Amino acid sequence: MYQYKGLEDTIAAIATPAGQGGIGIIRISGNDAIKIAEKVLRLRGEKTLSDCKSHTVQYGWAKKLQGEEILDEVLVTLMRGPNSYTSEDVVEINCHGGMVVLSAVLCAVLDAGARLATPGEFTKRAFVHGRMDLAQAEAVIDVIQAKTENFLRQSQHQLKGELSTELQSIREELIKTYTLLEALINFPEDGLDVQSRKDILERLNIQEKSISRLLESSQTGRILKEGIRIVICGKPNVGKSSILNSLLKEQRAIVTPIAGTTRDVLEESAQIEGIPISLVDTAGILDPRDLIEEEAIRRSHLYIKSADLVLLVLDHSRVLQEQDMQLFEKLKGARVLVVVNKMDLAGKLDYSIPAKIFGSDHLINISALEKGSVLKLESKIVDLIRENHQFNAHGILISNIRHIKALEAAQENLKGAFRLMNESASFEFISEEIKSAINQLDAITGLNIDEDLLNRIFSEFCIGK
Ligand code: GDP
Repeated sequence: MYQYKGLEDTIAAIATPAGQGGIGIIRISGNDAIKIAEKVLRLRGEKTLSDCKSHTVQYGWAKKLQGEEILDEVLVTLMRGPNSYTSEDVVEINCHGGMVVLSAVLCAVLDAGARLATPGEFTKRAFVHGRMDLAQAEAVIDVIQAKTENFLRQSQHQLKGELSTELQSIREELIKTYTLLEALINFPEDGLDVQSRKDILERLNIQEKSISRLLESSQTGRILKEGIRIVICGKPNVGKSSILNSLLKEQRAIVTPIAGTTRDVLEESAQIEGIPISLVDTAGILDPRDLIEEEAIRRSHLYIKSADLVLLVLDHSRVLQEQDMQLFEKLKGARVLVVVNKMDLAGKLDYSIPAKIFGSDHLINISALEKGSVLKLESKIVDLIRENHQFNAHGILISNIRHIKALEAAQENLKGAFRLMNESASFEFISEEIKSAINQLDAITGLNIDEDLLNRIFSEFCIGK
């Protein structure tokens, strides 16, 4: 089990974001939280905090450690361990939400004996005291940083421990197989009959499939967390920036009638039906005139390669040109939606070529200037995204890259064990593979993790969480 240094300290930090607000909260946690808070608080009716019941709110004033100078009028929440966020005694002082007043009260708390908390230290303590495992602690960050309701729901499932429960059940089955193999190593004379060999192979197969199912969810999980990357490309002046702006519902890219105005790559975030989208408007330049344009083209190609979907914009009012054909060639193999824009103008475009290359169900007609058209485009984009991803808010979706790597390693171990078993290899080798798989699962929940990695995980948290 992980040994945490500094647990004997009582820690404190401002738990609300920097800036002005209605209220701001100083959070104190540790063995001496109540004693320290009492030194800088005066409660109404001469009450002392240590005599107050847990989970009650007291009215009073925060003051400097020395003397009686009042710093702010406050409400104080007392939560005695183990029924608190950290499982320790926690005191939260609700002050007015200005940085000067919050800093003054925090300084008084530090003068009274608390230590300034490091980023994520409150959550780290919750983990160390076993109130949550590491996968749940990581879900706290996801809940805070969630960009969409869908991802928030997913993170809340993980915070409740659904991923941990699933991992626990895979782990228990692996332990059974591991124990059986260890017994065979220690008492080789018992031997392994045909039925037991079949059972072990079947168990390994079932557990490998469970891990594989979790991994299958990771692409959708990552998309919910980070968004679908949609790249908009097309010749200059076909209406790429106008489409980007109408999807973003704001004027971010400069729209002008002069061809080639967008000289670099623009990236913006939006949401369509709760799915986070990262929209990239490429420069639309094919023949670079200078180094900046050369770089813009290079970057456009990189974006196209990494895109989940490419919107290839064509101008309905113009005939296809050589530049369009070059783009078609470049986009072969990418997931493309052909967007024929400027449908409000007289048509000259021959759709048959793009329809043949990219498929007629991957072609849509719009006018970026009309709201109805943009809604039609949005719903087509969502249909295409849903073709590949099930955004089922109830299943477990893996989105954390650390979890993905550990599950991939565990899966490799189980495949290795299965192969060795079939090859009738020595039980030592097979049990070693299973043990490594168990260790990988334990790394996710934090049962087996080194301190450096743990510190790195918690350093991503904000101070006060
Ligand atoms: P980009 O160079 O591909 O980013 O093209 P822009 O978005 O800057 O648009 C070029 C010009 O076409 C601007 O004058 C836009 O107002 C105009 N435009 C864009 N979409 C439409 C459309 O659907 N219909 C019409 N008539 N004009 C459009």
